[in-house]
Amino acid sequence: MKDSYGRTINYLRLSITDRCNLRCCYCMPAEGVTAKNCDEILRYGDMLRIVEAAVTLGIRKVRVTGGEPLVRKGVIPFLHRLSGTAGIEEVALTTNGLLLDGMAGDLRRAGVSRLNVSLDSLERETFAKITRGGDLEKVKSGLVAAEEEGLKIKLNMVVMRGLNDHEVVPFAALTLEKPWSVRFIEYMPTIREPQWRDRIVTGAEVLGQLEGHFALQTISSGRYCGPAKPYRIPGARGTVGIITPMSEHFCGDCNRIRITSTGQAKSCLLNDMALDLTPCLRSGDENLLRNALRDVIDGKPRQHRIAENPQLCAAFSMAKIGG
Ligand code: SAM
Ligand code: SF4
Repeated sequence: MKDSYGRTINYLRLSITDRCNLRCCYCMPAEGVTAKNCDEILRYGDMLRIVEAAVTLGIRKVRVTGGEPLVRKGVIPFLHRLSGTAGIEEVALTTNGLLLDGMAGDLRRAGVSRLNVSLDSLERETFAKITRGGDLEKVKSGLVAAEEEGLKIKLNMVVMRGLNDHEVVPFAALTLEKPWSVRFIEYMPTIREPQWRDRIVTGAEVLGQLEGHFALQTISSGRYCGPAKPYRIPGARGTVGIITPMSEHFCGDCNRIRITSTGQAKSCLLNDMALDLTPCLRSGDENLLRNALRDVIDGKPRQHRIAENPQLCAAFSMAKIGG
């Protein structure tokens, strides 16, 4: 379906939990993060009802996210049902990769074709610092397992000044050997870190760093490619991409809506608007659910304004909404 600005909405991001086995410094504050009670989190059956209603409005791709989606019990049978939903052409998953090693095969068999692995450093200590204690080796072995299973891999790196901006070139160099898509994402001030402006490394700066080392070729965006501007290092097996939510918003091409793990439907990540789907779910009336989703799509704002004025949107943890 098209929204009121003529954008085709065919992509749903579904957060299945707000819990996480990491505490990334840019995603959650150091303290005071409490997970929702289990009875506040949607049951898988209700999530599938939402997806079925969304399919009737034109949703064709679902990305499962969180929190960390792989920590939720029952995720594999859920993914089987999700990928078997009539009308869903692609099921993808975003993960921090910590549990991938033991789950990659199950994910592929459950119908997941693409994995986005969030990885912000290739250095053990930097990784542990950013994630507040994460073990890089586990993510690395998870990536090996995912490759062995033939899953298509995107690596997402949030570039932050003074933390990991010295690793842009090594990340890009991974694509020389690996058929991965490595994407550099601008840091967003979602938790309102006091010095957030200093943290942001713009996409233009990242591109400058890359062009200083490689003769980048621009390539055309693929289907469902989303907001990344893609490039290839000559001869590389993979690609690099730059995602600029702060310096150059891509709202004009935005094709997605989001459902949080508590059943809030959101048409824009960086806007406080949300519609609670739980009354529709409780009513048992699938038409109500469909109409609510239609309203969400209809009400999708033209663009976010977080770069101009972060105060226009309340601080939030991405783990609560599903990045
Ligand atoms: N736990 C999973 C993971 O890390 O991939 C899925 C959920 S996480 C909230 C989804 C994505 O949001 C991750 O790629 C993470 O890097 C990104 N993210 C979280 N906070 C962010 C911020 N302040 N700026 C940019 N990206 C952010
Ligand atoms: Fe967890 Fe992902 Fe947020 Fe890191 S970015 S704290 S892994 S939800």
